[in-house]
Amino acid sequence: LNRISYVNGRFVRHAHASVHVEDRGFQFGDAVYEVWTVFDGRLLDEEGHFTRLDRSLSELSIRNPKSRQAYLAIIRELLRRNRIRDGLIYLQVSRGAAPRDHVFGNQEASPTVVLTAKRVDFKAKEAKAAIGVSVITLRDQRWSRCDIKTVNLLPNVLAKQAAFEAGAGEAWLLDAEDFITEGSSSNAWIVTSEGVLMTRPADNAILNGVTRRRVIACAKQLGLGFEERAFSLSEAVRAREAFITSASTFVTPVVQIDDEIIANGAPGSISLSLRDAYQQCNQIDTPNIEQDGTVAAGGQPCIP
Ligand code: PMP
Repeated sequence: LNRISYVNGRFVRHAHASVHVEDRGFQFGDAVYEVWTVFDGRLLDEEGHFTRLDRSLSELSIRNPKSRQAYLAIIRELLRRNRIRDGLIYLQVSRGAAPRDHVFGNQEASPTVVLTAKRVDFKAKEAKAAIGVSVITLRDQRWSRCDIKTVNLLPNVLAKQAAFEAGAGEAWLLDAEDFITEGSSSNAWIVTSEGVLMTRPADNAILNGVTRRRVIACAKQLGLGFEERAFSLSEAVRAREAFITSASTFVTPVVQIDDEIIANGAPGSISLSLRDAYQQCNQIDTPNIEQDGTVAAGGQPCIP
């Protein structure tokens, strides 16, 4: 089976999928992206990722060249052609190809649209979550608009590589006051020694994760004590539990921060119940992408 991707109006063999050398995404990182998980044929948090895409594009004054329905039709076709029921959809929109100049130039240049799909073995991820991951901490070296989901990921890439080289699963980034901002590709959470669930407010220092928002809704439904405030490294190492969230890893327990073991070194019960709640909640209010149109499966939507 040839892997198929989508580039600017065409479904092409992945090996041949390419953009122009003067694409501003390639030249300047002048592009934004989104990632959806497809779980059992369902596009998780469809709406949340589209809403954030619109926001990222508008913050950078990049025209959104397509409607949601058009993106959804492409996603459905990519899943069909690649025969994927469990995997990831990656979408990137750049400002387009134009003669290289820092200034945007011709406003008429068409944004470049790329979508790829890949299969994921969620069972392997489940096994990882059952054990938990360790994280290292590093100084956050990024810019002051981390709320925009741009492809400028060099500090994130270097942090994740450092984590990998240290045998850790993620790097948590520290602001100037030694408060955790977020992970290199995930949001950071703790359950304090008093049992309060805590994650940093969605300021400009972090990406407001779609999974983060959904987990906040799940926590409220479960009646957990929750405080949206920044926590420090010293609070984190003394926490009862810690975990990370992202579209591709859901809720994944953190069992070690640098050299400090969290609690007894096993995934915490609140982390695991939020992982379950997140998955159940998505099953309830997410229609199957293979079926055209919206199929309400009943139950309470988790995000009002
Ligand atoms: N922060 C960063 C820096 C990320 O790259 C991601 C994953 N894209 C997240 C947080 C989590 O966001 P989401 O839950 O929307 O995947």
